[in-house]
Amino acid sequence: MSSLKKKIKRRQEKEAKKDLQEKVGLFSKLEDKCLVCQKDFDKKNKEMVMSWSVIVKEDKVRLYCPECWDRANKLIKEIKDGYTNSKVDV
Ligand SMILES: [Zn+2]
Repeated sequence: MSSLKKKIKRRQEKEAKKDLQEKVGLFSKLEDKCLVCQKDFDKKNKEMVMSWSVIVKEDKVRLYCPECWDRANKLIKEIKDGYTNSKVDV
């Protein structure tokens, strides 16, 4: 019983490790600059890794710094709001 538990635990650890490796692999494929403002991205800087946005779409990896990500989101919201408003007006 306990050996089975150990086995399961080991497998979970292995899966977690694999997941992490996939993520690290993703980062190694990344550009090291913000797609918009070309600001340098430091993969070894944990704070940067946490705050920057990585978008994976159709095998392409896009990297945005927090400022550009924020701006992009605001723009999307404005477009959305504008669309909604004009829809209401019409
Ligand atoms: Zn940027």
